[in-house]
Amino acid sequence: MKFETLAVHAGREVEAGTGAVTPSITLATTFERAEDGTFPHGNLYTRSGNPNRDALETAYATLEGGAVGLAFGSGMAAIAAVFQALDTGDHVILPDDLYHGTRFFIRDVMQRWGLAADFVDMRDHRNVENALRPNTRLIWAETPTNPLLRIADIAALAQIAQNTGARLAVDNTWATPVWQNPLALGADVVMHSSTKYFGGHSDVLGGALITRESEDVPFVTRLRQIQKLGGGVPSPFDCWLILRSLPTLSLRVRAQTETAGKVADYLAAHPRVTAVHYPALKTHDGHAVAAKQMRGFGGMLSFEVAGGQDTAMKVASKVQLFTRATSLGGVESLIEHRASVEGVDSKTPQGLLRVSIGLEHIDDLIADLSKALDRD
Ligand SMILES: *Cc1c(COP(=O)(O)O)cnc(C)c1O
Repeated sequence: MKFETLAVHAGREVEAGTGAVTPSITLATTFERAEDGTFPHGNLYTRSGNPNRDALETAYATLEGGAVGLAFGSGMAAIAAVFQALDTGDHVILPDDLYHGTRFFIRDVMQRWGLAADFVDMRDHRNVENALRPNTRLIWAETPTNPLLRIADIAALAQIAQNTGARLAVDNTWATPVWQNPLALGADVVMHSSTKYFGGHSDVLGGALITRESEDVPFVTRLRQIQKLGGGVPSPFDCWLILRSLPTLSLRVRAQTETAGKVADYLAAHPRVTAVHYPALKTHDGHAVAAKQMRGFGGMLSFEVAGGQDTAMKVASKVQLFTRATSLGGVESLIEHRASVEGVDSKTPQGLLRVSIGLEHIDDLIADLSKALDRD
């Protein structure tokens, strides 16, 4: 079956007891044992498993074409599990432009636990090859990256990982499985912040891991252990909300992508804009690789204005339809001055504004940007 069909049906069944077409929310934290001590319904305690989480995990695995889906309480909890599943002394390679939370988690938490890490520019996969060490166990890719929308060649990275006996994990939050399927390109693990396009309405936090390997492989067993014992799990209601959003994922992402392409063209032609970072543009240095591995270019873009932070902040201060807020993937368009969100260690250009395109009409979004970019 095709993606749209799977997105409507994966993890959703008419409920046996009631005939309900949508799932009920099972709030119970604990479940009764039978007289012989077994758990006849398969549920024991909600941190270990819950019907709403089981359904969401089935949907995650189905949409990314993996063997196992794991649901977490946030994208960061999912990211933390991947790195905690490695051993002290292992080496990992990450992109030098990536979600700042991942960078800080490696630097401030995992390096203290003895994980070695290198951050390289993954636009050229030879930089990854050159960073390999005998103890490299994981290559972490994010493509497109946050916030510069750099593109890494997933198939090339998968080959490098395979040759060295390491795994490749891909943060697929921005592309979504509507446009990009890392497992089909050779990756071993896909990660999502479900807070973004999966949830899609800026009202629920969540994270996902989907693995190519099955649960009896020790690495995947450890991910499951960290989920259950670490306890970074989503609530039943969080799971219900995300599952409810998945049937519209494709519709939303297609509309957001169409609008983002037009906004990128508009900005690229604007005299006050010095750079537009969007991989659909022929001028983007990752365009060819993106066109090879993505079926569409997504609803996220960033652009730069001359004059650094002052000008960028001024432009952001003048929008009326876009909301000045962090995060992405919701129905409402957002704009943010990224460097000030990332803090003093940010490497993001000071004149950069990041935009998440929502579901408003293109004409209204362009009118808003146009007014904001006017000189006063
Ligand atoms: C938001 C985001 C994360 C972190 O997810 P949370 O749900 O906020 O914990 C990780 N990676 C990317 C690319 C993101 O955009």
